[in-house]
Amino acid sequence: MSEWLLEVEDLKTYFPVQKGFFGRRSGYVKAVDGVSFRLRQGETLGIVGESGCGKSTTGRSILRLINPTGGSVKFAGREIIDLPQGELRKLRRQMQLVFQDPYASLNPRMSVSAILEEALSVREQASNRASRKEQVMDLLQLVGLNPHQADRFPHEFSGGQRQRVGIARALAVQPELIIADEPVSALDVSIQAQILNLLQDLQESLGLTFIFISHDLSVVKHFSDRIAVMYLGGIVEIAGKKQLFSKPYHPYSQALMSAVPILNPQKKRERIVLRGDVPNPANPPSGCTFHPRCMHKMDICQAVRPIPTEVEPGHVVACHLYHSS
Ligand code: SF4
Repeated sequence: MSEWLLEVEDLKTYFPVQKGFFGRRSGYVKAVDGVSFRLRQGETLGIVGESGCGKSTTGRSILRLINPTGGSVKFAGREIIDLPQGELRKLRRQMQLVFQDPYASLNPRMSVSAILEEALSVREQASNRASRKEQVMDLLQLVGLNPHQADRFPHEFSGGQRQRVGIARALAVQPELIIADEPVSALDVSIQAQILNLLQDLQESLGLTFIFISHDLSVVKHFSDRIAVMYLGGIVEIAGKKQLFSKPYHPYSQALMSAVPILNPQKKRERIVLRGDVPNPANPPSGCTFHPRCMHKMDICQAVRPIPTEVEPGHVVACHLYHSS
């Protein structure tokens, strides 16, 4: 069996752009354009990048909540890109999504107990109601909620508590992989750390594999073993957390890192301010998509898309500055 739980190869998700009264297709937004990475069992990969870089679409494409345009996604060695819906539904139990906004993802008319029972009912072994009730209590305890609150409705909980319910619902089917899409960005800063600690504890105690998506590098840093930096639909750098933080190679990663606050006042770091905005993904720049904002750009950058290159063991960068040939 493969050592990788998840293998993503050249994943592409394009959305058609319609124009005019008749809605003619005038092009594509290349939301995800050639993303590749692999993930071991029990590992956490952070995916970081600015809003609109394609990180959430990558997560949803892996789960096939959005159908990818091309590429390959293998879960435990099994290709899921062309899996029929029935097979996919079964496999989805092993891969769950934790949403950014738990309130929007929880049915306001259902009690927390009913929400969790519904999730549990997907599992064959939770067939009888009494056993499901017991499991609801266990799940609530697991995520740090009081089991006596099971009959309350989502609006009766705080934002942080609702996210705990969202996490409990994801855990109900005993998944192997959890994709957490900005799971703390809608929460107060004081609550964020509690949810991050909960996710970390659950990962350690249940041996879960995580993809943790965030625009906030300091949040991703807290949680990840490896980090992938995304820009305009592609991964520009991927490395172990320590490698990336001690020596980011890609100019975009360097700019992101320079904005992360340093706790030690003795250490100073120069802030790199990027010029301009993220370009329109419906009309991306040629060659290296980062070239209009890059202070190191060369002639080749505008013409040729850089090939990801391993600059150190396990540290891959897509930038002409480091391409050996
Ligand atoms: Fe900058 Fe060129 Fe590297 Fe792109 S390929 S990040 S433009 S130096």
